[in-house]
Parts: sequence; structure tokens; C-alpha cells
Amino acid sequence: SDSHFPVPVSPSHVDFSLHYPQFFPSSSEVGCLKKIQFADIGCGFGGLLISLSTLFPETLMIGMELRDKVTEYVKERILALRGSDPGQYQNVSVVRTNSMKYIPNYFEKGQLTKMFFLFPDPHFKEKNHRRRVISPHLLDEYAYVLGVGGIIYTITDVEELGDWMKSCLESHPMFESLKEEELEADPVVKLLCSATEEGQKVSRNGGQTFQAVFRRIVPTSLY
Ligand code: SAM
Repeated sequence: SDSHFPVPVSPSHVDFSLHYPQFFPSSSEVGCLKKIQFADIGCGFGGLLISLSTLFPETLMIGMELRDKVTEYVKERILALRGSDPGQYQNVSVVRTNSMKYIPNYFEKGQLTKMFFLFPDPHFKEKNHRRRVISPHLLDEYAYVLGVGGIIYTITDVEELGDWMKSCLESHPMFESLKEEELEADPVVKLLCSATEEGQKVSRNGGQTFQAVFRRIVPTSLY
């Protein structure tokens, strides 16, 4: 349960120097101005983060994972990579938390530029839909922590969940779908399947995937 992991009162209470020591030299007071920009929600074994780390070496990114052992595995994986490739993988970290409850405890308004929801648990039964990580209510929170122009990436191999995530995003006034040519030009889209452990499993089994990639916008009704 949640009692087994610490929950920061607010983003300013998180010591990010522990996550990214090379980006926060203790001697420098101005060093801590850099903020996390990418969040991989339910990151599992961390494959996406590892790929993004070298693609965006100056961007701080974090995985949020509920399972204790999986979080520990990702921590060890990152430390091992930092050891074997000095100077690399300094921008990636992981935290054990319940993302459905504590996103605003970690990120300030408009801080993020990318959020990932890759192969989330489907929660098939109607009464369990409230447990889905994409929902109208949670999209309000994601819209809050994403800056204008920020992108939310979702993918699943469960068609019903894919339809659900897409329709939640389409109905939300603060998100608009990326156009086909924008998806093709975005190198991150290609990683959604190829870089995650779950995506690789689906590819191996020849399964279909359903993605929805949306941009955080300022709703036109606000003008
Ligand atoms: N995204 C990874 C991938 O594509 O390989 C993992 C997908 S796995 C099917 C879903 C992950 O979400 C699991 O590791 C699970 O523990 C995590 N998860 C489920 N609910 C969560 C929550 N409320 N907060 C954080 N992580 C959660």
C-alpha cells in the first residue's frame, strides 16, 4: 500500500539531486534550476527511459512505477549503465509511487513536455474503469503538469482500452490529436513499441497496437 513509500508534500520537497547527482553538483546553488521534463507513467522495467536517455541527453526524465521490486530493478539498471558508460544515463531516474494519486506532488504546473502511458493495465470490467490511468478526471491533472505544446503518448495492444484512451483525449478541451505527418516526424513515436518491454512482447507475438498521441493546447473557448 501507499504507506510503504514516502510521498513528498510538494515538488519542492523532492530532492532531485539524489536522482541526478551529475546535474545537481552540491557546490553549485544555481545547479538545481533544471527541471524534469519527461515522465514515463507505469514505466515497468524502464526500456523506454533507457532509450530516451541517450536520445535526449540533456533532458531530465523520470519513471513512475507502483511495484517495489520493479522500481528497484530499474534503479539498479540505471546505476549499472552509469557505471559501464561513464557520463551517460545521468539524466534518467525512477521513483516508486502511485501515479494516479501523486503526480501533482512531483511536478509543478506546466513543467512537463512529454508524458508516456505505454501498455497500461487494461482494467476491463466497467466498474474498474475508474482505475485506468487515462480518465477524464486524470487528464485534468496531466493537462496541469504538461506545458502548452507538451505531448502525451499512449499505446496499448488492447483495442477496447485504445478506444477508451483516444476518446478520453478527444473529449478533453485541453488536448488535440497530432497530425499524421507530425507523428511520422517524431522519433519518439517509433520507440513506443520498440523500446518498451511490453511493446517488444507484443511485436514478438505479432500483435496489433493502438496508439493515441495528443498535444496539450490552450482551449479555444478561453480566448
Ligand atoms: N510501460 C511499461 C512497458 O510498456 O513495458 C510497463 C507496462 S505494464 C503492463 C504496466 C505498469 O504500470 C506495471 O509495471 C504496473 O506496476 C504499473 N502501474 C500500474 N498502476 C500504476 C500506478 N497507479 N502508478 C504507477 N505505476 C502503475
